Amino acid sequence: MHNRRAVVVGAGVAGLASAIVLSKLGWRVALLERRERLKGDDLGMILWASGVRALRALGIDATLDVGGIPVDRFEIRTEDRISSSFGGAVLGADDGTPSVTVHNAILYEALVSRLGPDVEVYPATQVSRIDLVDLAAGDASRRWDADLIVAADGIDSPTRNLVTGPAPTIDAGVVVFRATIPAHRAPERNSDAVEIYGSDRRRFGYADLGQAGACWWATVPGGMRPESPQIQHELINRWFADWSEPVGKYIAATRPSELVQQPVRFVWPVPPKFHAITDSRGGLVLAGDAAHAVAPILAYGGSLALEDAVTLGWALRRTPESIPDALATYDRVRLGRVRRVARVSRRAHSIASGGGGVAKGLLRAVPDSWVQSQAASLADWQPPR
Ligand SMILES: Cc1cc2nc3c(=O)[nH]c(=O)nc-3n(C[C@H](O)[C@H](O)[C@H](O)COP(=O)(O)OP(=O)(O)OC[C@H]3O[C@@H](n4cnc5c(N)ncnc54)[C@H](O)[C@@H]3O)c2cc1C
Repeated sequence: MHNRRAVVVGAGVAGLASAIVLSKLGWRVALLERRERLKGDDLGMILWASGVRALRALGIDATLDVGGIPVDRFEIRTEDRISSSFGGAVLGADDGTPSVTVHNAILYEALVSRLGPDVEVYPATQVSRIDLVDLAAGDASRRWDADLIVAADGIDSPTRNLVTGPAPTIDAGVVVFRATIPAHRAPERNSDAVEIYGSDRRRFGYADLGQAGACWWATVPGGMRPESPQIQHELINRWFADWSEPVGKYIAATRPSELVQQPVRFVWPVPPKFHAITDSRGGLVLAGDAAHAVAPILAYGGSLALEDAVTLGWALRRTPESIPDALATYDRVRLGRVRRVARVSRRAHSIASGGGGVAKGLLRAVPDSWVQSQAASLADWQPPR
């Protein structure tokens, strides 16, 4: 067991968490990342109670180690009325685990700092070949043999097609502008996470990041904008000019250079399996967005990525003598969970996609209790034992 080798492709949240888990199990891990530096983004994100539990299972406390801010209240509203509102506590009701907002770069640093001495990191390494017969991954000049490959290379993973056949990526037809405002410039904040639904598929959300400041995200219809950040900032100002405060305050406090623009895409349907095994009794497993990029409207991708890694570790511990058995167990446990999150995320995406006031009408029609129970049941994931 001690000389087993894993190759992890991609050092996003899923890849880092998988490398931590494998090194804790005594594996030698090569972590291959195409970017020059291992670094998170200057962006806020929500980590649901399930993700907080997964992080804890990795030995990281979301509030103490990552500076996560527990969310007191989640509020979904239209411009004129609150449509749904529930306390963060209902989501972790069984064990009191909070859902938190975190700064992505701080979370990333915490994960990097937990990589054990048996993890060798290879930045600036773009994996271009995966050999599923002899089980190896390589770039243009090198090759890493493995007993297990974890493909954590994000939504555009070419490996997903190798494992599952074609799994279509859906373009949601909207883009999201996001920004983090440093604490000294941030508007007055409280510990609520709010998302406001407007007409024509526009939405604006904001949340507190504690000492890291405040974050906001604005969803608008259309494709990626080619203009300069300065012009993009002016456009956002115009698109949300008639929205009530604090929307304007968040936009005004943001410098154009702080804007990040992201397309919204997701994989649907969820692939039928997440792993492949080889004759050598080894295997390949997909993790994070590479396996199941869900519609980001419910902000579940990061939590699912952490859950994947923790579940993989559990499955390998359960049947240490057989990687194929462990991967079959992993699929059995993960598929149901991921399908459920993907289904609810897609449904929420469909509601939000109704333009011309349809989304607002649907939001009014959906009972608050339904939203609350869906949110609570998604967040109740526990690390398998
Ligand atoms: C607008 C938006 C808002 C979101 N908000 C939230 C939120 O609030 N909370 C939340 O939990 N989630 C959120 N998500 C989802 C979340 O960002 C993703 O689910 C999560 O980052 C997935 O992590 P990952 O490690 O699987 O993939 P990625 O973060 O995509 O990491 C993949 C890594 O693989 C590397 N890579 C790719 N190809 C190769 C290759 N060939 N060789 C080597 N390396 C390679 C990449 O450089 C990258 O580092 C949001 C997503 C969007 C689009």
